[in-house]
Amino acid sequence: MSAPAERPRGPRAALSGAALSGAALFGAALFGAALSGAVGCDDAPPPLPAARPASPAGTQGGGGAPGGAPGGAPGGALGGAGAPGGAPGGAPGGAPGGAPGGAPGGAGAPGRLDGLPDAPAGAPQLALPIAPEDVALMRPHPIIGVDHEPGGGVRTQCRDHHERAFPFCYDEHEGSDLILEGGFVTMDAGSARVVAAAAGRVTRVEDGHYDRCHADLLSADVTCDGRPVVANRVHLAHAGGWETRYLHLRAGSVRVRVGQEVACGEALALVGSSGYSSAPHLHFELRDDLGRVRDPFAGPASQPYSLWVDEAPAGAPPATATTSALPAARCAP
Ligand SMILES: [Zn+2]
Repeated sequence: MSAPAERPRGPRAALSGAALSGAALFGAALFGAALSGAVGCDDAPPPLPAARPASPAGTQGGGGAPGGAPGGAPGGALGGAGAPGGAPGGAPGGAPGGAPGGAPGGAGAPGRLDGLPDAPAGAPQLALPIAPEDVALMRPHPIIGVDHEPGGGVRTQCRDHHERAFPFCYDEHEGSDLILEGGFVTMDAGSARVVAAAAGRVTRVEDGHYDRCHADLLSADVTCDGRPVVANRVHLAHAGGWETRYLHLRAGSVRVRVGQEVACGEALALVGSSGYSSAPHLHFELRDDLGRVRDPFAGPASQPYSLWVDEAPAGAPPATATTSALPAARCAP
């Protein structure tokens, strides 16, 4: 209800020279984007200065800062297992065996279709959080991903899992943005269904907020046409203390309630453009048991393994400097 705006605060909100130019650049990019389909969003406050254990419970308060405590030192979290030096430039999902991170022997885990090594036991295996029938409504690339080099306050300064810069990410982005092809036209025609990436329990729901927020040329920023900038969202808790978050949902579309158990692939809501969102898209965010942001994608800037069930579905183009592909909308067996 009274959740604060999803607007960036702190360094990004301050109109210092750097932030301003970053904002302006970002705004310019947003516009090109609004035309070409890329989006921008801010779904969590800026990282807090010190690494501090985050209480997952802190994320559940209805009115608290979104993302409350977690988020301490995302850089550390993101750097986690992803020792740089693993085959820079290795395309996730490229030739089988070409696993980024240099999997010993180059062989992917048995049973995986994308040639990537298996994630450690206990880590989630995620389906693309879009209903399989609606994946065609989503833009295959770019996926605007997690920033593995947060800080600096310049919107266009970032590094995604594949070492790519803006628009594959933007500064301090803590999730993966999946863009609705056709923007508001597609949204108005029924939009795409957002589904649970894994089985879990609903821990937070926001709905009813204005869902036509968009890029604004005059301010070079996002506007919600005078309404509060608050994202409609669903949070799910998963086994092992992991959490997924689904933001910017279409108003009135959330169909689950707090406490409800959902199966992987179960519909949660529709893609919208509520909150700090320049065009209709889903911000999908993954956090581990310590509340740290994690990037489900494998890559030289991320970790050698993928947290998707299948990061590079058959027929999808491998990630390159300019392309990427949506992971499979398939639940773990
Ligand atoms: Zn996002």
